[in-house]
Amino acid sequence: MKTIPLTDPSLEAEIRTVNYGADREPVPALRFWCPICDDHAHYVPYESGVAQHGSFPNGQHRWGNPSGSTLEDLTLAPSYLAQSPRYDRGEGCRLHIFVRDGEMQILGDSGMKPFKE
Ligand SMILES: [Zn+2]
Repeated sequence: MKTIPLTDPSLEAEIRTVNYGADREPVPALRFWCPICDDHAHYVPYESGVAQHGSFPNGQHRWGNPSGSTLEDLTLAPSYLAQSPRYDRGEGCRLHIFVRDGEMQILGDSGMKPFKE
């Protein structure tokens, strides 16, 4: 398992406010550049008081159980998983991470498969 501090310049990480969910409420989000494919950014909205993934009618999710409020001390639970729609058929990027105490822990089932033309 590879670990990268959120403050590592390669992640270009920042905490932003985004309008999210069915009600477009402002919530904090962790934004970072994908460490697997280096080709896109991820936005992970999160909110205090949400015990698990919060589900919305439009299918969006946000993460609960935050602690800390800066790149140096942020923890989000549970893990975050994002993958290309065609990853299971052998194309694209899969990112599976924990964010704990200001560090991104990249799990071993993350990976990159080359896009086919
Ligand atoms: Zn990626």
